[in-house]
Amino acid sequence: MTLEQRIAHVNQAVSKACERAGRSPEEVNIVAVTKYVSTEKTAQVLDSGILHIGENRWQNAKPKWEALGSRGVWHFIGQLQSNKVKDVIGKFAYIHSLDRLSLAKELNRQAAAADITVKAFVQVNISGEDSKSGMPPEKAYDFVRQMQDYPHIEVIGLMTMAPLDSDAESARPVFRGLRELRDELNARGAQTEPIRHLSMGMSGDFEVAIEEGATWLRLGSILVGKEED
Ligand SMILES: *Cc1c(COP(=O)(O)O)cnc(C)c1O
Repeated sequence: MTLEQRIAHVNQAVSKACERAGRSPEEVNIVAVTKYVSTEKTAQVLDSGILHIGENRWQNAKPKWEALGSRGVWHFIGQLQSNKVKDVIGKFAYIHSLDRLSLAKELNRQAAAADITVKAFVQVNISGEDSKSGMPPEKAYDFVRQMQDYPHIEVIGLMTMAPLDSDAESARPVFRGLRELRDELNARGAQTEPIRHLSMGMSGDFEVAIEEGATWLRLGSILVGKEED
């Protein structure tokens, strides 16, 4: 499949899922995850009109960002060690993996020094799997409240990952759980500005994620392919 065909296919699937869920496709944003592909392929993705690019490791992202950084809006979607914050600050406008206080401190400190604000998703481990990163849901309220002390971090949403080798339907309770958590945090007034976004849904389960309220999909293989394709 060509990139254009992949994009058309994804757009159609997004529209259909939105229709089923009674949602507007305009509420659903897409991050093209380019971690499997080259700088050339990433350039094609940007050429096609996709603006949001996601990478999970700075080492992989670096050549792409250096060549193409100003052409896109970059999302850091992988686990982030505090000593790697210096690599991403000022380059990635969105961090999808804010999962602990020590990371928040370092992000805030470096964002303050650069005089910028980082948009962040608080990553929550809804599935409860040991292997999953993210904080337990019961810690999210206090964590979001604490973010008020970190003015260079703007919490715009929650993020979760569904269990990896399961079918899309079994991801549904995980996605629903994230939406319910967001609604609960907003009902309890965790922060003044309501939390709007849900970063959830990957190639295998994005349609279910849309049905459960996703506002940011992170799509790799289905959208940009892998390098051997
Ligand atoms: C790789 C990755 C994705 C995209 O995965 P696909 O299944 O290829 O769509 C999404 N989110 C995160 C955090 C990833 O690491």
